[in-house]
Amino acid sequence: MLDRTTCCDQMICSMPFGDASTHSTGGRIAMLSVHTCPLAMLGGRKTGGMNVYVRELSRELGRRGWAVDIFTHAESLTRPAVVRLGHNVRVVHVVAGPVRHVGRYELYHYLPEFAQNVVAFAEAQGLSYDLIHSHYWLSGLVASRLRRTWGVPFVQMFHTLGALKNQVAESEADREREVRIESEAHLMRLADFLVAATPFDRHHMIAHYGADPRNVRVIPCGVNLKLFRPLCQHEARAELGLSPASRILLYVGRIEPLKGVETLLQAMALLVARRPMWRSTARLLIVGGQVPSRAHGWPEEMARLHRLRAFLGLSDVVTFFGAQDQETLPYFYAAADVVVVPSHYESFGLVALEAMACGTPVVASRVGGLAYTVQDGKTGFLVPPKVPEALAHRLETLLDNPTLRHRLGRNGVQRARRFGWSAVADRVEALYRRVQPRLTGQPYRHAG
Ligand code: UDP
Repeated sequence: MLDRTTCCDQMICSMPFGDASTHSTGGRIAMLSVHTCPLAMLGGRKTGGMNVYVRELSRELGRRGWAVDIFTHAESLTRPAVVRLGHNVRVVHVVAGPVRHVGRYELYHYLPEFAQNVVAFAEAQGLSYDLIHSHYWLSGLVASRLRRTWGVPFVQMFHTLGALKNQVAESEADREREVRIESEAHLMRLADFLVAATPFDRHHMIAHYGADPRNVRVIPCGVNLKLFRPLCQHEARAELGLSPASRILLYVGRIEPLKGVETLLQAMALLVARRPMWRSTARLLIVGGQVPSRAHGWPEEMARLHRLRAFLGLSDVVTFFGAQDQETLPYFYAAADVVVVPSHYESFGLVALEAMACGTPVVASRVGGLAYTVQDGKTGFLVPPKVPEALAHRLETLLDNPTLRHRLGRNGVQRARRFGWSAVADRVEALYRRVQPRLTGQPYRHAG
């Protein structure tokens, strides 16, 4: 039985702003996650893989003796300024502009203030950092300012790239603005080192943004192998109140057009049309997304998907579960016969890896990181994005064949073992030592 702590917020203890800093035997890292907090509830519109990455990597580094302060935009007056996230790891909520959720392009204007307040925090605490590790383009812009002030290197990871998102954007509202693309291009040249999540990611950084290949290292994202592990399907279904006789397909993730849930609903409609006998047993569970607010009703994309579900006659087949905490997700993964990741673009795709770690086969779009983690025909199937027929065909094949599912699931568990956070942290530590010679006793000089 898993420990069912529900929300990060309940696991943390807070300390006032001035409390003693963490102790370091490795070095001191300023981790920047400006636009999204690693303590935030996952599965909302803007909280997903990057939050998990920053949280898990920082915890692993903390356990290894690095002192890590994660700087993020303060969105609430009630949350303490400094919150302990794990051994040697703190989250520092930095005031910059309004103390509330601020959209990314608005937050851009407050980045100079953010950087100033990080510097003020370090001074007030009497701390100096050995290295900056920044996530996403907004954090990179803060890192470039901090590097000028502190004279220490910065390692940049983008998580997603604006130019690639724009290639698959379906509406003007989905398009990333020029300021993002330009900032990313600028940071590709400026950062001391760039981390790519996959070889494809690295290729895109070089081909679309002119990054220097010598400065881009591939370090894949990780999965918490203690949490995401095979569980008994029968027990998992009982835990979630799901029927043992159902054919269960599962989607987990943020709800936005880029994630391709629309294609999945269309594939589901094809599936039940082709196999009418399955209408009473086939179930698609959709985990993620915000709940309706009193003022605005359903968030736009959720509302659109609800309408589509009704239009396709799938109201009895598709269930929206809303966002779930990560401690509950292993039950969902284990309860499912197949996990579906129908994204149009995915720089890495943690959900596919988590599903594999739980021993569930994955059908995913052949895009970005999914084509790297999911092995076609071995741990699941890769299909072209936005093609419901191809997706329905693979789902049908898998639902029809328990032996195949079992084999792919077993292979998935093997595959996922390579991606533990410990392996990720080994490589990140090696990079830190290379980028900041001071960690091994040499002075740091940056070319910029
Ligand atoms: N997630 C979660 N609860 C949800 C939905 C998602 O904890 O309701 C987590 C999921 O476990 C995964 C992350 O959010 O670790 C999503 O990461 P992924 O890389 O798949 O997608 P991204 O959000 O980066 O686009």
